[in-house]
Amino acid sequence: MQEKGTISIHTENIFPIIKKFLYSDHEIFLRELVSNAVDATQKIKRLSSLGQYNGELGDLRVEVAFDEEAKTITISDNGLGMTADEIKKYINQIAFSGATEFMEKFKESKDANEIIGRFGLGFYSAFMVADRVEIETLSYQDGAEPAHWTCDGSTEFEISEGSLAERGTEITLHINKDSEEFLSKHRLQEILDKYCKFLPVPIKFGTNTQEEEDGVDEEGKTKYKSVETDNIINETNPIWTKSPNDLKDEDYLDFYKQLYPFSEDPLFWIHLNVDYPFNLTGVLYFPKLKNDFEVQKNKIKLYSRQVFITDEVKDIVPEFLMLLHGVIDSPDIPLNVSRSFLQADGNVKKINSYITKKVADKLAELFKSDRKAFEEKWTDIGLFVKYGMVSEEKFYDKAKDFVLLSNTKNENYTLNEYKDKVTPEQTDKDGQLVYIYTNDPAKQDAFIQSANKKGYDILLMNSPIDNHFIGHLEQKLDKTSFKRVDADVADKLIKKEDALEHVLTEEEATKVKDIFNKAINKPAYKVELESLNPDELPVTVTMDEFMRRMKEMAAMGGGM
Ligand code: ADP
Ligand code: MG
Repeated sequence: MQEKGTISIHTENIFPIIKKFLYSDHEIFLRELVSNAVDATQKIKRLSSLGQYNGELGDLRVEVAFDEEAKTITISDNGLGMTADEIKKYINQIAFSGATEFMEKFKESKDANEIIGRFGLGFYSAFMVADRVEIETLSYQDGAEPAHWTCDGSTEFEISEGSLAERGTEITLHINKDSEEFLSKHRLQEILDKYCKFLPVPIKFGTNTQEEEDGVDEEGKTKYKSVETDNIINETNPIWTKSPNDLKDEDYLDFYKQLYPFSEDPLFWIHLNVDYPFNLTGVLYFPKLKNDFEVQKNKIKLYSRQVFITDEVKDIVPEFLMLLHGVIDSPDIPLNVSRSFLQADGNVKKINSYITKKVADKLAELFKSDRKAFEEKWTDIGLFVKYGMVSEEKFYDKAKDFVLLSNTKNENYTLNEYKDKVTPEQTDKDGQLVYIYTNDPAKQDAFIQSANKKGYDILLMNSPIDNHFIGHLEQKLDKTSFKRVDADVADKLIKKEDALEHVLTEEEATKVKDIFNKAINKPAYKVELESLNPDELPVTVTMDEFMRRMKEMAAMGGGM
């Protein structure tokens, strides 16, 4: 039996184009072929459990091997195999249709980079690195004949009798001149580690030699012998596939160490597990933050059925959660489409809000179950919670119950607690609550002392997000405004009995104020007498909060 034929694809000469534009991502050929091999073993397992295959399953496995001299890479499996007809159908038509689709998308897209790396080219990607590809396969079906297929990357293929004696498939790539870098143990191991580390079927790549104890010699010394063991590159049951009930804290911490070997322990983690209306599993960790947030972004790894896809999760994870680390696995995230499509995808949107909700729930639970521990972590989580509150309405609604306001005395209050605390002292004549804050406690120390003396509480708002956060709270909180401690706060609030007033007559006080007002000579500023005690601040000069904000904005070049 020998048959020649032409693969029916509409776009001729697409290989050179794909080769050229996919250059940076050539290594994904291995991901695609290994995951096909894994799929084949999963399929035979399913057939067997359905009673549609009664033969021996054997130890299901995939093997990757290479031959530097022959310049080949081979991927073999003992999965369900294919008949000659199935090759024609699945390889010549289906696999190649993936490539055609790629070209269509490629032509539509204005920016080629958009699709590169996102597109699963499947079997076809073998031609990025190979001049010629061969398939040897034997189907599980009763009486199936082994088949052999070869194709040199043109649209011509050849099918003939095969030589496999056991069920399964062996794909051999004859590596092209430009891709010889892949004929290296180191390089292949690296790619397997990156994409295949958590695939569900053992993947063998070469062997390891180990020294093992082998009894004792005449002098009683331990003897050793070299033992060759298979080098299995993957862990078939990573923690995100397990039930949270079967896992201990240690397991989560170990996995974190495995993903990010040089990091400090995470603050907490969230096990994601949902199967309706979309399928998603994963573990997200909240890391100990460092100052350089940019560097820490893009630490979440995205998997699809345990195959690594990308660590660019920008469109799947809400922006404010980009600082999280960990793994998300979902077969429902479309990976073979462009960015813009991804953003519009309904599943992606749902996944986005699911993750937001889970993170908020976890934080609420931590707050409820152990407030002390929560407060200790607040320096690390605060920034992120505030960021989430200003950027996601749904997150705000949940976080408003556990977000903490910290004052200059190192005390933390929830929004409700704080309101109750300051209402008696810090309500103005119009019934408005005034929250006083500092964004630079060292510089504003004199004002803080003075305000404390009057019985006001000062919030510490000196993180990069606080300016924004204050603006957001003013919109959200009822009848509440924020004033920086050096603003003309004192005037607006119901004043405490002031000893000073009794020392100076009204006339004298006015005189002193006048002296200052003349010296400053700017109507935006307000002069207030404070104390006659030589150790204390005698006078404060403040500015209206609104004016101050306007000035600040103008200075930043923002304007309105
Ligand atoms: P996909 O995996 O998305 O279906 P591919 O282009 O990767 O697309 O593969 C096309 C088809 O070829 C597969 O669906 C499968 O039917 C068949 N195939 C590829 N590799 C193997 C294999 N190792 N064993 C059995 N069938 C395979
Ligand atoms: Mg595939």
